[in-house]
Amino acid sequence: MSNAPHVDDKSQSADLRPWIIGLPKSELHVHLEGTMSPALYAQIARRNGLDFSGEADAAFLCHDFDSFLNSFLRVVRSLQKPKDFADVVKAYLETATAQGVVHAEIMWSPATQRKFFPDLDLIATGRAIHAAMADARGKTGLSSLLILDMVRNLGELEAMLDIDLALQLRDYGVVGVGLGGDESRFPARDFQRVFERAKQVGLRRTVHAGEAAGAESILDAVELLHAQRIGHGVAARGCKEIVRLLRDNNVTIDACPTSNAITQALPKNEKHPLPDWLAAGLSVSLSSDDPSFFATTLADEYERAAEMALGRSELATIAKNGFAASFAGGEEKRRWLEAVDDYVARSTAP
Ligand SMILES: [Zn+2]
Repeated sequence: MSNAPHVDDKSQSADLRPWIIGLPKSELHVHLEGTMSPALYAQIARRNGLDFSGEADAAFLCHDFDSFLNSFLRVVRSLQKPKDFADVVKAYLETATAQGVVHAEIMWSPATQRKFFPDLDLIATGRAIHAAMADARGKTGLSSLLILDMVRNLGELEAMLDIDLALQLRDYGVVGVGLGGDESRFPARDFQRVFERAKQVGLRRTVHAGEAAGAESILDAVELLHAQRIGHGVAARGCKEIVRLLRDNNVTIDACPTSNAITQALPKNEKHPLPDWLAAGLSVSLSSDDPSFFATTLADEYERAAEMALGRSELATIAKNGFAASFAGGEEKRRWLEAVDDYVARSTAP
């Protein structure tokens, strides 16, 4: 743990904002569809001829997991052409750059679009997304990769189609697969063959677990699905065996505190376990999950962490955890880790 002064109230954490923005950061758990701003949603919906009336902001309102899912599925239906996805990614990467993000791993759920718009060319869409990512890299140096997030509710067959697509898009920034959707009704064990195949073909693996189900879901994600990262992991709080399992297997939790509060993955009267996890030596990174639905940004998540009485040293550790756990190449990871150390040294120099 750190000797840095702890920040223990909101005004002090707000003072840290410029330092947080300057800190080189990664964002590893962010859904492409959840980054679309209300303004961009209105623009895309209109140009696709959707019956669009009322305030775009209202479409993003949510107060628990069910209302989030309903809002999400309504908004996602506006995305019908490769350009729509490319525009969303372009806008997210611009925002990310302004937040001090130097590496992003964006999740995209092609199975949802396969269900809503079977005529959409998913390979062309993946290539359009990649072109937007390459363009951002050329302009600002921002690195980004794509993860195909499979949807539990749609079953094993659809997930296998996502693996096929991931392999077809390997030269277009797709580095791995994820698993999202309704964790409480569609358990990890139903996707064992899918993840076995993903591992065999060398796709990296992240799983939403311990968000809408208990600690056993995290255990299954690691032991049955070979998860290298866990999204949320809230159910690991207070569970020493699970924390030990994650630590021993070098599995990082991509924590999303604002999301957890709004979806009520974390009960209202409970504190987020982030400080406890760090104290236990667990690797934890921070992400915004679906920033447009949860009215947050990555910098906001770091501020929220500061409000949990975490100081600069812990925030820098979180940033380094993210780079170390990313699915990028070793050389880049080393460079980013050094950049964090340099930044901390420069910002604490007398
Ligand atoms: Zn998520």
